[in-house]
Amino acid sequence: AHLARIDAVDEKVHAFLHIDREGALAQARAVDAKREAGEKLGPLAGVPLALKDIFTTKDMPTTVGSKILEGWVPPYDATLTRKLRAADVVILGKTNMDEFAMGSSTENSAYGPTGNPWDLTRIPGGSGGGSSAALASYEAPLAIGTDTGGSIRQPAAVTGTVGVKPTYGGVSRYGMVAFSSSLDQGGPCARTVLDAALLHEAIAGHDPMDSTSIDAPVPPVVEAARNGSVEGMRVGVVKQFRGEGYQAGVLKRFDESVELLKSLGATIVELDCPSFDLALSAYYLIAPSECSSNLARFDAMRYGLRVGDDGTRSAEDVTALTREAGFGDEVKRRVILGTYALSSGYYDAYYGSAQKVRTLITQDFEKAFEQVDVIVSPTTPTTAFPIGERADDPMAMYLADLCTIPTNLAGNSAMSLPCGLAPEDGLPVGLQIIAPAMKDDRLYKVGSAVE
Ligand code: GLN
Repeated sequence: AHLARIDAVDEKVHAFLHIDREGALAQARAVDAKREAGEKLGPLAGVPLALKDIFTTKDMPTTVGSKILEGWVPPYDATLTRKLRAADVVILGKTNMDEFAMGSSTENSAYGPTGNPWDLTRIPGGSGGGSSAALASYEAPLAIGTDTGGSIRQPAAVTGTVGVKPTYGGVSRYGMVAFSSSLDQGGPCARTVLDAALLHEAIAGHDPMDSTSIDAPVPPVVEAARNGSVEGMRVGVVKQFRGEGYQAGVLKRFDESVELLKSLGATIVELDCPSFDLALSAYYLIAPSECSSNLARFDAMRYGLRVGDDGTRSAEDVTALTREAGFGDEVKRRVILGTYALSSGYYDAYYGSAQKVRTLITQDFEKAFEQVDVIVSPTTPTTAFPIGERADDPMAMYLADLCTIPTNLAGNSAMSLPCGLAPEDGLPVGLQIIAPAMKDDRLYKVGSAVE
């Protein structure tokens, strides 16, 4: 049924970069056979899923939305891919994304944009716009995203779906192509809070192959999702998460959500987190710095594309020609920015200062979580914008992640879930819930209470 749905709508939506028809059907049949034989089935047996094209899959190409990896079929499965297979999930294919997960609209994909199923002329968010669009268009009931600065939560918000950025280290990064290693985090995308929890539990947990993976039990997310409540909880509202640039209808739905939380028995606490105003600036030094280092491996020798290797050129020239042809504008912009920020003489002023701001943000969260159990905010300042509107204005594009970035810098957990439609344009609005590190279960407890 999902493959038929993909056939019917994906030409217009363009959620998928690769559809694994044969593999999906074979997997579904294998689940049936197991069931008939009375064998133990995984917790998500037979449930179809759309996988962001940033996780390695040994039976499918992995492009990361880039020409530089076109045609590359990895020799191994990411830990997350392996866990999905062990849970008997049926992987339908790989979803579209901004190149190397850099963007907020999926327009930076080298393979063309994805449409928002609510209005195909608008963006489905990014970088994981393929995954959010697959959910919103009913092409898949579950999907996987990655969130470096908001790429799970912002697409969820603008497509009326649910997305969770787990605590940093909660889901393995082994086999997840690196953008900014200290911020990148894979996580679940779904249409309901409970679905997200079931997927979260299937992909989370310690992995010795990832040195930053947390060696502790997975927070009880499914139990929390089944027992939604905010009775007696202290919920923080941060004053820095509103003001100029926020759409009126977004703030209206957010204020209503706060009223709902109150009526369900939560106490609302106003919080001041002054360092959050600097989060975007710090992020756009740290993320490009790590990107410039991580992307150095695409040297035309190891993977995918190789340009100009005609026997007359040096290795350096082939590398330069390949990177020139294989990377898009946003990736180049970030490699240049990051290389500059890390260069001798500028390191302390840029990268060093950004790291200090990062510490201040972590401290603001620590102080906040002494007073509250969770924090709520709008997920994004606006609803889905038209395709093309911010394509030539990187600063306007970067503003889409104003509310999501602080969480990545601090490493704690956050969810976006739908909280109604903005009255002025009838498009979905996202409510963000933020919890301390390793308290991901609180997201689900609160989320399922207000869903
Ligand atoms: N939009 C942000 C960026 O462009 C975040 C991307 C992400 O979370 N992968 O970097």
